[in-house]
Amino acid sequence: MSKAFANLGLNSELLTTLEQLGFETPTDIQTHAIPHVLNGEDVLAGAQTGTGKTAAFGLPMIQRLVTQATVRDEQRNDVLALVLVPTRELAQQVFDNMTAYAQATSLKIVTAYGGTSMGVQTKNLQAGCDILIATPGRLLDHMFCKNVTLQKTQTLVLDEADRMLDMGFWPDLKRILAKMNAERQTLFFSATFDKKIKDIAYKMMNDPKEIQVAPENSTAETVEQMVYPVDKKRKSELLAYLIGSRNWQQVLVFTKTKQGSDALVSELKLDGIKAASINGDKSQGARQKALDDFKQGKVRALIATDVAARGLDINQLEVVVNFDMPFKAEDYVHRIGRTGRAGHNGRAISLMSRDEEYLLEAVERLLDTRLPQEWLEGYEPSLIEDLPEDTNFNKKSRSSDKRRMKAKMKIHANRGKRR
Ligand code: AMP
Repeated sequence: MSKAFANLGLNSELLTTLEQLGFETPTDIQTHAIPHVLNGEDVLAGAQTGTGKTAAFGLPMIQRLVTQATVRDEQRNDVLALVLVPTRELAQQVFDNMTAYAQATSLKIVTAYGGTSMGVQTKNLQAGCDILIATPGRLLDHMFCKNVTLQKTQTLVLDEADRMLDMGFWPDLKRILAKMNAERQTLFFSATFDKKIKDIAYKMMNDPKEIQVAPENSTAETVEQMVYPVDKKRKSELLAYLIGSRNWQQVLVFTKTKQGSDALVSELKLDGIKAASINGDKSQGARQKALDDFKQGKVRALIATDVAARGLDINQLEVVVNFDMPFKAEDYVHRIGRTGRAGHNGRAISLMSRDEEYLLEAVERLLDTRLPQEWLEGYEPSLIEDLPEDTNFNKKSRSSDKRRMKAKMKIHANRGKRR
């Protein structure tokens, strides 16, 4: 049994489970958060995706629920612990992980998210629920239908809280909080923190312990990052080339639009690469199938939008590709958090067209670092790319751009070897 996990105060039942799951050493966030959560304290944790956050709040939550043996009033559909997440995929992911962590207990864990029928969820909730993992909108639906009550909820977790607030869930959250007992433990997990989010966090917490396991807004150290400047119209060709020549078997690709993700699937298929897309236009069933096919290796490239990709946990994902640079720099952190998880090495590749240079600069400002760039032989960006109408570039700036590109070409001339 893991001594390191035992030192954090976890009981032998959980230690056996962890052994079965192959968890030998706690991750940083687990080391720092578990003792406080076990102690019943509020925790405000800044941790990137893939750092083992779910176990950091899940293991001590399970232990507390089991040892306190709080009696649920079956008639009232009380929930003892509530985990709120921004997306369906994350809800399912957290549910799967929590179910694994609680396998040696008799705790009932239920998940409730939109996009699927209320019926099954209602039945599950009515059969009793100790831990509920839900998206805010669907939880409100169930509260309205009196399928669930929160007066006895002792622990509230907000997972990926920054995204939840970004996605406009704050009004829903306020309605949920209003129905909760103020005497509760609140755990707030977020990959990124700005002042607005911290202010909100402090409003709903009681003297929280602040834990930051990596410098704010940094990216996982285990992820090797590279930017390839390329003409916009050649991006899909370059992606197909990279997947083929580097023999990537499992690559998660981000596009900025749903339409873009579907178009890219078709283009990769023309190049003989099996691909599937996962975006908000797809039914939950189609999204799950795409994800399962990807996990099982039936498709090589999964093309996702930012929202659809939240919460995807694919073990040891080899490569993440930013086919489009993210509009919001914070999304870069979320995207590349899909690789290099829990100590595994990963690779994050960005294909950047010229009209996206300002987006790269925003990412570099956020990370406070320059990302390495390389021109790939045969895919060097042309001096003046056919810039789309809606960019800030105008004809006047093109001559200085041209000079800049020439200078860049000199720098990169010897570096553009195929890898
Ligand atoms: P999370 O950040 O909770 O999404 O976890 C990311 C991945 O790391 C999941 O697949 C977990 O099963 C795995 N994981 C979490 N903690 C550990 C650990 N201490 N040792 C090994 N794997 C872990």
